Amino acid sequence: MNYQSTRNSGLSISSAEAIVNGISVDGGLFVPEEIPSLSLDEIVSYADISYPERAAKIFSKFLTDFTDAELKYCTESAYNDKSFASASITEISHLFDGTYVLELWHGPTCAFKDMALQILPYLLTTSLKKVKIDKKVVILVATSGDTGKAALEGFADVEGTSIMVFYPEDGVSAMQKKQMTTQDGKNVSVCAVKGNFDDCQNGVKAIFTNDEVKKALAEKGLMFSSANSINWGRLAPQIIYYISAYSELVKNNEIKAGEKVNITVPTGNFGNILAAYYAKRMGLPVNKLICASNSNNVLTDFIETGIYNRNRDFYTTISPSMDILISSNLERLLYIMTGDDALIREWFGKLASEGRYKVNDDVKRQLAEDFAAGCCDDTQTEETIKRIYAKYSYTLDTHTAVAVKVYEDYRAKTGDTTKTIIASTASPYKFGTAVLEAITGSAPEDEFEKVDKLHEVSGYEVPASLAALKNKAVRFTRVIGRDEMREFVLSETDNI
Ligand SMILES: *Cc1c(COP(=O)(O)O)cnc(C)c1O
Repeated sequence: MNYQSTRNSGLSISSAEAIVNGISVDGGLFVPEEIPSLSLDEIVSYADISYPERAAKIFSKFLTDFTDAELKYCTESAYNDKSFASASITEISHLFDGTYVLELWHGPTCAFKDMALQILPYLLTTSLKKVKIDKKVVILVATSGDTGKAALEGFADVEGTSIMVFYPEDGVSAMQKKQMTTQDGKNVSVCAVKGNFDDCQNGVKAIFTNDEVKKALAEKGLMFSSANSINWGRLAPQIIYYISAYSELVKNNEIKAGEKVNITVPTGNFGNILAAYYAKRMGLPVNKLICASNSNNVLTDFIETGIYNRNRDFYTTISPSMDILISSNLERLLYIMTGDDALIREWFGKLASEGRYKVNDDVKRQLAEDFAAGCCDDTQTEETIKRIYAKYSYTLDTHTAVAVKVYEDYRAKTGDTTKTIIASTASPYKFGTAVLEAITGSAPEDEFEKVDKLHEVSGYEVPASLAALKNKAVRFTRVIGRDEMREFVLSETDNI
């Protein structure tokens, strides 16, 4: 199976090359040239094997240049009970009639990004060997909180790699800051930037594409790579848990083999819901994919009208990982739907120049067939957390609450009672302030008092990784200006 670029169908590279390169030189994203299929028997049979075994089987259809031994190594190294608090890696909770919450946050950083970032380092280092690149990889990450920590945990002490994370000095929560600045590992560094998330991201992009810096790195035997969500190595691992969850629901007699389910996903960059779309196209019995947004509802409008328009106000919400106006992975969906790289170049050219594009009627029809969409604001998010807690004694994080609310609205509006899987993307402990304020009306200032209080309220076990932070020494205290990032990278790479 080879990979094309969404902006150049003529390109044909292996999955290892796609993972090493991250993004295509034409600015497009890598997609497999066809979508492999899975039989219902095969899906159902996954219930009898472990999560890493399910993962290896599904990867083998996409990463055909990897050997079985390599896939076994990658999946077993990533998905085990040393990294995940749940032996089954993910957990499914029955919320209310026919509605299941798929908890994707039992990994080391308590957010669903662990599902992909725990395995990406293994996929990447294996890929480097396969394409015979004998360089150490330097991963640069700009983060608004969740991705940075998940990438640090994934890459810490992984042979042949080194990782540097930049975060906005005042732009992350106290807990997120503590998670990052206390990170263990010989190959990690973390640095605060005087600026906002965009400054960090622009700084990283500028370093990535600077020929002088690249040359300096090459002389040291190093190269850059990326861990952000446009890398195919981050998308592929997300397909697995939808198929895995379906097999478990069948085994537990919650659904019949072949019965269709809806999947609702709290969406930002469109990676997680796109993975569910891939699962559907592979043969998973799925009715609707329900795309849930917060007040930054650019995707709701797009799915309803076929017009993508980023020219709108940006809102800072209590579900910050979904505060996004450009959903990069949508490009992959539109390429799959059109198969036309010229159209993608046209539309995404317009997005860059005018901030807006309109898809054709055929794509609109396909969107309506596979997707539904909705949004809710912070007040509705808080109300949902409070109501679900009172009614079902289940504590939602803010992102998952957006998905629950949008799903309830969808069900009320359409009368569609198809059984539904709601992707739960973060532990409530990660967004304790908003969750406590929603349930009890207030939250303690101190992060660890907040953890104790949430434990009291929810009864959920405190994630060991968060509890351990309390007594952990801060290792990284550097704060630099926006224009000092390049110098920082160059001096840090002297020590690799
Ligand atoms: C990243 C993230 C999302 C959004 O996922 P996408 O794949 O970018 O759509 C939702 N919730 C949480 C908690 C996240 O960290």
